[in-house]
Amino acid sequence: MPELVPNGDRRMFSPLSTTLIYGERDAVLVDPPMTTTQAEAVGERIEAGGKNLTHIFATHGHGDHWFTAGVLAERFGAQVIATAGTIQQMHHNVSIRAAFWDAFLPGQIPDAPVTAVTVPDNRFTLEGHDLVIVEAGHSDTDDTSVLHVPDLELVVAGDVIYNGVHQFLVEAGHGGLEAWRAAIGIVEDLKPRWIVAGHKNKELDDDAIRAVSETRQYLDTVDELLLQHDSALGFFNAMLERFPKRLNPGALWGGAVALYS
Ligand SMILES: [Zn+2]
Repeated sequence: MPELVPNGDRRMFSPLSTTLIYGERDAVLVDPPMTTTQAEAVGERIEAGGKNLTHIFATHGHGDHWFTAGVLAERFGAQVIATAGTIQQMHHNVSIRAAFWDAFLPGQIPDAPVTAVTVPDNRFTLEGHDLVIVEAGHSDTDDTSVLHVPDLELVVAGDVIYNGVHQFLVEAGHGGLEAWRAAIGIVEDLKPRWIVAGHKNKELDDDAIRAVSETRQYLDTVDELLLQHDSALGFFNAMLERFPKRLNPGALWGGAVALYS
């Protein structure tokens, strides 16, 4: 990403979470990463764990959460799964990859045909334990979902919940923030103890109550500061003042520009 952020930062993608859930023999991967190099690192970790990878699940269609699904599925003989809405968004992200994703990371993203399929009733299992795909609608993009693992009191939340990283607001216009709040409520109603956020600061824990309340508080602050500032730069600076510790102000700047355009 060539241009600089007003605070002097380089533009970059936010840190990504890829989650491996495993039992005695089998494993499920949630949100495989974006680049060939990242997929190799994830593949080595899976191989070192010695589990049989049965499924790769993508929470939503943004390419940074699934472009290497095919590569990893082939390597481990796993099936790629997603909701029907996410599969539609995957096709959209493939259609813009040359103009958007590859423009930022030329040559680093592998071929990514959409191979994901849906599963009946949005449910599958890992050694007899239920894994439930819960559709959350629009959060930081359209047609997002989360993976609920009741026996672990865990939600792998994709982009519905953030943890210590500036939230992606580029698609937040036109009622997007209200829809996102509803999506957060859907996760909260699952009453998880742990949430793995799709974008997290790895120094932070996965406490569900904190992550839910901080994600919501960020959106409330966006609403508050949008009313107080009439320029993207004013809004951006005020947000940084409120959230000095969140990673990747560049993501916030992208959102600020979109919201004021
Ligand atoms: Zn994301």
